[in-house]
Amino acid sequence: MSLTSSPATERRVAWRVGTVVGVQQETPRSRRITLDVPGWPGSLGGQHVDVRLTADDGYQASRSYSLASAGEGGVIQLAVDRLPDGEVSPYLNDVLAVGDEVEVHGPLGGWFVWQPSASAEPVRPVQLIAGGSGVVPMVSIIRTHVQAGDAAPFRMLYSIRSPADVFFREELAAAESAGLLSTEYVYTREAPPGSTTPAGRITRERFAAALTPAEQEPTVYVCGATPSSRGS
Ligand SMILES: Cc1cc2nc3c(=O)[nH]c(=O)nc-3n(C[C@H](O)[C@H](O)[C@H](O)COP(=O)(O)OP(=O)(O)OC[C@H]3O[C@@H](n4cnc5c(N)ncnc54)[C@H](O)[C@@H]3O)c2cc1C
Repeated sequence: MSLTSSPATERRVAWRVGTVVGVQQETPRSRRITLDVPGWPGSLGGQHVDVRLTADDGYQASRSYSLASAGEGGVIQLAVDRLPDGEVSPYLNDVLAVGDEVEVHGPLGGWFVWQPSASAEPVRPVQLIAGGSGVVPMVSIIRTHVQAGDAAPFRMLYSIRSPADVFFREELAAAESAGLLSTEYVYTREAPPGSTTPAGRITRERFAAALTPAEQEPTVYVCGATPSSRGS
């Protein structure tokens, strides 16, 4: 068998140039970045991209970022937590500006996706478990769910340092108000004023109470920072 590239392979491995069309402070330590990527093939809820930066001297660095966006259209959205001692995330948070170009490779991650069930299929509940910026792929899954208006019950357990650190706050609240999502927030460092539950890491009991029971056979998605990217 000869090793040649097919049009499909070329599509899969393509790096595309995206232009920054929006930057917005997401939380005190993170930023929402919107990119216009001509030729973008669309993505499913839960997928991610690799972003590659090239310095003037040719040095390159690439990192993976989840897509908060999903579906058709050439505009994609990321949300990047700033690691003070990191190489790429401080640049994306502090330097990248509207009009700048970055290279984008994807969508990637066909194993971490959610799609609405076809009408003949039984509805399966969805349990999302997110820590910090790990909520970003969950947002694209939630957006897909809200857009489809499908009947799957959606629950999310979201562990975050403090109320100020909640990503996509308004959108999550809107999905809650519409009855399309139920979120249990776990604040690890600072609880909201008046909260009866003190800040702290989640306990086994609270974890069990917050999750969809296994007998309901939920589809479960878990995403959170790794120890090296947790920051201070
Ligand atoms: C599939 C996927 C999706 C992701 N999605 C997101 C997302 O949506 N949002 C998001 O914010 N992040 C996301 N990430 C994490 C992201 O890819 C980067 O890892 C993150 O932004 C940090 O990159 P950095 O270049 O700033 O830090 P890096 O320079 O890579 O450093 C990361 C950490 O490692 C430490 N470190 C670096 N080099 C060394 C060394 N030699 N020895 C010891 N420690 C070292 C640094 O001090 C820092 O704390 C995702 C990762 C994956 C794999």
